[in-house]
Amino acid sequence: MQLEDIKGIGKTTIKYLNELGIYNAEDLVTYYPFRYEIIQNTDTQNLKDGDKVVIGGIVENVPTVIHFNRKLNKMSFHLNTGEFITNITIFNRAFLKDKLNVGHAVTIIGKYDQKHNSITASDIKFGLIDETLIEPIYHSSFKINSSKISKIIKSVLDKVKTQDYLPNSLVQKYHFMDKQEAIKIIHNPKDKEKLKQALSRLKYEELFMYMLKISYLKKSKKQSDGLSRNVSYEKVLKIIDNLPFKLTKDQLKSVKDIYDDLTSINRMNRLLQGDVGSGKTIVSFIALYINYLSDYQGALMAPTEILAYQHYQNFIKLFPNLNVVLLTGKLKAKEKKEAKALIESGNADIIIGTHALISEDVTYHNLGLVITDEQHRFGVTQRGNLKNKGITPDILYMSATPIPRTYALTLYGDMDISSIRTMPSGRKPVKTYVKTNKEIKDVLYMMLDQIKAHHQIYVIAPLIEESDKIDLEDVYKLEEKMKKAFGKVCNVGIMHGKMTPKEKEEVMEKFKQNKIQILISTTVIEVGVDVANATMIVIFDSYRFGLSALHQLRGRVGRNEIDSYCILISDRETKRLEVLTKTNDGFKVSEEDFKLRGGGDIFGVRQSGDMNFKLADIKNDYDLLLRTKEDSEIFMKSKEYNDPKYSFIKQSVIQSANLD
Ligand code: ADP
Ligand code: MG
Repeated sequence: MQLEDIKGIGKTTIKYLNELGIYNAEDLVTYYPFRYEIIQNTDTQNLKDGDKVVIGGIVENVPTVIHFNRKLNKMSFHLNTGEFITNITIFNRAFLKDKLNVGHAVTIIGKYDQKHNSITASDIKFGLIDETLIEPIYHSSFKINSSKISKIIKSVLDKVKTQDYLPNSLVQKYHFMDKQEAIKIIHNPKDKEKLKQALSRLKYEELFMYMLKISYLKKSKKQSDGLSRNVSYEKVLKIIDNLPFKLTKDQLKSVKDIYDDLTSINRMNRLLQGDVGSGKTIVSFIALYINYLSDYQGALMAPTEILAYQHYQNFIKLFPNLNVVLLTGKLKAKEKKEAKALIESGNADIIIGTHALISEDVTYHNLGLVITDEQHRFGVTQRGNLKNKGITPDILYMSATPIPRTYALTLYGDMDISSIRTMPSGRKPVKTYVKTNKEIKDVLYMMLDQIKAHHQIYVIAPLIEESDKIDLEDVYKLEEKMKKAFGKVCNVGIMHGKMTPKEKEEVMEKFKQNKIQILISTTVIEVGVDVANATMIVIFDSYRFGLSALHQLRGRVGRNEIDSYCILISDRETKRLEVLTKTNDGFKVSEEDFKLRGGGDIFGVRQSGDMNFKLADIKNDYDLLLRTKEDSEIFMKSKEYNDPKYSFIKQSVIQSANLD
């Protein structure tokens, strides 16, 4: 059906509709409202200043109109609600004056101004409203307004049929309403419940088609180019049984996900995400072990020297019989050469290190698995490097900056995700406070309490860091201050980016052994460092950090049943920082971070702009998104997908996938 065929609209209107991207009747009925106005009479008993109100009443006097200029006019009159009389003003509705007869009933929608006992109206409806009205609001233009659009759409709703892309199996599974009905409801809702159902039905279809495209892309990429492994799950379970602790449910599920990937012919491309301290490391170790059992080399890349070394030590503790090699950029030339020789000859089973692991002159014997810890620290090119070496290992990315799943899915649609949401038992949320520099005395007392309880403290220095240049003076000044305050009761240590790895290690080792109780440090260093007796972290100038970064720092404490504290010291942006006092859930923190910073480049790539859904919103509808992801994958494997009856779905998917 063409726009020309619609009764009552002329050439000019058609032009205006075209300008909104509407060219035919199908465009029209899929031009969905972007929000709804819920119109319901306000309880006038407790009106407060600024309240949004819907009030019915009788027009008390003849409205007066003031024309400021051709484009701006103001109309005022009194409204008698039966309980009180209030002044109504409304802009640019002078044309309504003649219809507002004294003694007639109207309903005013607007905002209450207590001081002037007036309502600034955004809309006036004739007559009283006794039920809730739900009014669709459309993106409109100066030339054609929302209610006009609404009227036109309503006039064709019964005449236009749109293509329904949902296979029967899914319509049945979710008891979805008919698409035609859903479209009618969305443009002309009568009750909220039905509207909700209609919305989720249409959003589901939208997301389903998108995820189907992603699944298609994923499938066409994989082409079974992975390594096959022959390892029984019993062997894996045996390892798990021998661990010093019981794995959490999410850890077990992640291990199983990875095991399934590794033993299948498809190449693994998986993101393991979980909050700081959720126990990703052990999962990665088990992955390395599974890979080792099938006679491949495995590499684990950490973002810092300290972390690499910590992983190295922990790994050999757990698997003393394997040949493990440490390779970091800061090894001596001779040590490096030895390490590389072991890697090339195949005498190294496991290689743990920093991104030196992917520098050009490392040749692997048979690399089967690469794991990157805190992967957001690795740039896209570095990841590319590895792939370009002519080897196709399985890849596991680990991240403690839980990208909201929505974003992970859209950024890495062809990546599988395992999430660890449950913390190992016994963990308590870290109590977080925001303090100003003026309140430093309080902070020192809080620190003293911890020291008296024989606990340890991290202090993140208020350093000024311009690219690589570190102003050490500030760190030393702080050390002096801390020594002055606590020198008599405990040992204060210092660690910063200008120290050699060996010096850093020594300090860290002292902290681990509780020879140092207060460790002042710059943040360059210790993502993921694990000292269970540390119960407090004090972060100076916290405003410098993103919420996720602060959350990561906070994750250094709270590693056992003892109460732990995070003190954020800042004279600026305290409101933003308050978010952290309210939640300990990294997934939530990162959502906030995304909101505040507009999402985007955490992974060094910009979020692609092709996610322009008409109805769905990846932030708010991510549960739905997850469901469609699962459903689309199942559908793609099902007979239905190849049923000629549904060939139009397949065609549409292939077409849109090839367009990207
Ligand atoms: P992250 O996810 O931040 O890398 P880690 O893997 O470093 O966290 O784990 C943090 C600490 O929790 C480590 O000391 C680790 O040994 C311990 N841990 C991991 N899993 C469990 C578990 N299931 N039960 C008890 N402790 C655990
Ligand atoms: Mg870690």
